[in-house]
Amino acid sequence: MKPPYLGCIADDFTGATDLASNLVRSGMRVVQTIGIPSEPPSEEVDAIVIALKSRTIQATQAVEQSLAALQWLRTQQVQQVYFKYCSTFDSTPEGNIGPVTDALMDALGTEFTIACPAFPENGRSVYKGYLFAGDVLLQESGMRNHPLTPMTDSNLVRVLQAQTKRRVGLVDHSYVRRGSDAVSSRIAALRSEGVEVAIVDAIDNDDLLAMGPALAGLPLVTAGSGVAIGLPANFGVSASDLAARLPAARGRRAIVSGSCSVATNAQVADFRQRGGAAFSIDPMQIVAGVDVVSEALAWADKLLDDVGPVLVYATAEPEAVKTTQAKLGVEEAGQMVEHALSQIARGLVAKGVGQLVVAGGETSGACVQALGIDRMRIGPAIAPGVPWCHAQSRYALTEGIHVTLKSGNFGTTDFFTKAFEQLT
Ligand code: ADP
Repeated sequence: MKPPYLGCIADDFTGATDLASNLVRSGMRVVQTIGIPSEPPSEEVDAIVIALKSRTIQATQAVEQSLAALQWLRTQQVQQVYFKYCSTFDSTPEGNIGPVTDALMDALGTEFTIACPAFPENGRSVYKGYLFAGDVLLQESGMRNHPLTPMTDSNLVRVLQAQTKRRVGLVDHSYVRRGSDAVSSRIAALRSEGVEVAIVDAIDNDDLLAMGPALAGLPLVTAGSGVAIGLPANFGVSASDLAARLPAARGRRAIVSGSCSVATNAQVADFRQRGGAAFSIDPMQIVAGVDVVSEALAWADKLLDDVGPVLVYATAEPEAVKTTQAKLGVEEAGQMVEHALSQIARGLVAKGVGQLVVAGGETSGACVQALGIDRMRIGPAIAPGVPWCHAQSRYALTEGIHVTLKSGNFGTTDFFTKAFEQLT
């Protein structure tokens, strides 16, 4: 088996899927692992994406986990390493991006890398080193008030310089728009001035594609998921539907939803309006000792012969969520619901569900864990950043299951219907 070209380290789970999906649509066959895998991939792939949960943990721990991931990737003989962070460039207030970049550069013995969180398709662009979210500077966007990782400075050169011992420079748009040769010579000039990490501007996909060739041969690339679209061509890989091909979908269809986002509320409502079979979980009943897991599974059993998907949801409008949280505590309510939904997901799979949609980032994490999934082959995207995946679960009756993990606000209103249509 040929070794993978790219080895990726992502600082969170849905970010990993986002990156994996971009690589797939650019023609790479990709496996995403949950944490550092114990075994090499069982099939030939072009990229491996290791999903860590290191965005908001202590820098020392983030460094330790990232180095362990790097060490594993090196045993797989990958040609280039990609450190993936958020397109809003957030980590902890002290910053994890700089320390992790430093540690990876030291370990790889490399003297230069880039940093580019741009993903213009999703409204993240970098111009003159400043990061924009949509039409406004990052510091004027909602990220200013993010509960865990507020971003109050949009100048990425400054933000990163405060996090790294290395000198940070800028490849600004005047070079990027002239193409890869101009980017390469700008990089060479910066390196001769002692710059070791360069922020690179990008305001559209052409910019991302233009910088791709200039990054060939760099042992390390650090970026959001956008830069990934320009890399496969460096390895002679071109876009092809084959990369997204998964085994045929089998088994019953189900949706488990624990997201309470605006988008997910609309998706649940849309599914129900279309006459979809739906079962609602009330957190207060769980506290009262009702065995909602068994109830939900018994309800789903009755629909065994139906062809349509079944939906089990805790999704609720903000007012109802607030009331529950006030009574139970935010974390307690969240964990209780996550636990119940993950047991339901496992029960459904054990009853023959082979096509599973999970809505909610944390909910997805809980379900993946309950299903014992440790790696997923990435397939076609249902919505940007939300692909169908194929995974093995010891609870499955089918030979592997199809699963898609939709974080909060992703997907159009008809997502639950559209997702299954794509598998037929
Ligand atoms: P998102 O991706 O939309 O943020 P998550 O799954 O990450 O979704 O987070 C939603 C959180 O809300 C989870 O912890 C989930 O268990 C919790 N939750 C779901 N439904 C309810 C509810 N009705 N009341 C209170 N908390 C809920």
